[in-house]
Amino acid sequence: NIRVRYAPSPTGHLHIGGARTALFDYLYARKHEGQFIIRFEDTDQSRHVESGVDSQLEGLRWLGIDWDESVDIGGPYGPYRQTERLDLYQPFVEQLLREGNAYPCFCTEAELEAERAEQEAAGHMPMYSGKCRHLTAEQAEAYRAEGRKPSIRFRVPANKVIAFEDRIREHVEFESAGIGDFIIVRPDGIPTYNFAVILDDHLMKITLVIRGEEHLTNTPRQIMMYEALGLPTPEFAHLSLILNQDRKKMSKRDESIIQFIEQYKALGYLPEAVMNFIALLGWSPKGEEEIFSKDELIAQFDLDRVSKSPAVFDMDKLNWMNNLYIKKADPERIVTLALPHLQQAGRLPATLSDEQAEWVRALVGLYQDQLRYAAEIVPVSELFFREDVQLDDEAKAMLAEEHAPIVLGSFQKQVEGASDFSVDTIKALVKAVQTETGYKGKPLFMTIRVALTGQMHGPDLNMTIRLLGRDTVLARLKKLL
Ligand code: GLU
Repeated sequence: NIRVRYAPSPTGHLHIGGARTALFDYLYARKHEGQFIIRFEDTDQSRHVESGVDSQLEGLRWLGIDWDESVDIGGPYGPYRQTERLDLYQPFVEQLLREGNAYPCFCTEAELEAERAEQEAAGHMPMYSGKCRHLTAEQAEAYRAEGRKPSIRFRVPANKVIAFEDRIREHVEFESAGIGDFIIVRPDGIPTYNFAVILDDHLMKITLVIRGEEHLTNTPRQIMMYEALGLPTPEFAHLSLILNQDRKKMSKRDESIIQFIEQYKALGYLPEAVMNFIALLGWSPKGEEEIFSKDELIAQFDLDRVSKSPAVFDMDKLNWMNNLYIKKADPERIVTLALPHLQQAGRLPATLSDEQAEWVRALVGLYQDQLRYAAEIVPVSELFFREDVQLDDEAKAMLAEEHAPIVLGSFQKQVEGASDFSVDTIKALVKAVQTETGYKGKPLFMTIRVALTGQMHGPDLNMTIRLLGRDTVLARLKKLL
């Protein structure tokens, strides 16, 4: 029975890196009919953010990911938050101490700092010297009498090669000689990540650990502890880094990329598009096809097509993909996503009349095919809300041509005499301008478009004219003529 877990530290919102790990866990579990567990690793209280748990789950839910066990729904191996599991860890600490695989270390932060500085000055990689490895009971007692509180360190075996077969990186080896005895329980009694993680993975019967490559160097430490405790080691799959468009390691400050799932939601991206995109960060499908529904991803996904080379986060590709999903989406859904942005921008009131609701539906419909994300409705539809038309040089040149006043004058007369302002009527009005002036094609349509919108290109002209409304159309024409 396959059991995988996503184990975030609740330090803030769901980042795309974490979302990718969670998605791969989820796809793998669903594909192999296993379980997907979400466990919160909150033993480092200094980095903990109270809302972190909820916002992680919220982000995953929005993406369309569900899970079988976690803090919200419980499960047979709970609690699913490490600070609620401290009692469970105690017997394992005692076992390690009893069998000599761990020992109390009384070194103070200042002493350790001095040791590190000395090693660095000598050109060595800083590594705990093992000073407290062989303390006698009397020495330990003396330290305690001084009021020192020990941390517990794992005794790293000498000259051992720690090797494992990573599901993505294949054969990986580390030498224990490069690893100093590390802290597994802090002086306050709280276990460190490396220790808690193996106990939880064991107690929660995790069979495969999928996580980011930044944890690769933790893995030999974890394997040594599994071995010392006589516990089976799960399999590992370390996912490669995600690079930014410049192929550099992504930093949280990188503004060329939208990094948090919450931001995608806020901007009106479609979760199924974001999921599709994230799935391709390191995984490649068999054929050329790149567009996959959730069920298709589950059917197609497997670890053997996950690459060990870094994935590049291409924002343009994400926008392209999201636009593809928007085009195919139910128009009502896009209206629901776009409307709040128009309201927040002060373009529309908080409560709409029936007429306004109908108008905004048509407006969003007009732009649905070109929106990259719903919030983009605000900039692209700006021409409907401004007092004056903004003409660029190209547009000005267009209106300076000799046919312009002829076409626009005729059009003005037609609009003034029109009995209604439906799309069909507008079509007929433009046709009448053609008949009256003899202009057709670009000199006809482009002139009217530029005069009314200031833009050479745009969506359907008749609908654009209808949504501008007769008053605005006449006002804009009058200003020009
Ligand atoms: N809490 C760790 C993190 O957020 C999880 C590492 C792991 O999956 O083992 O990076």
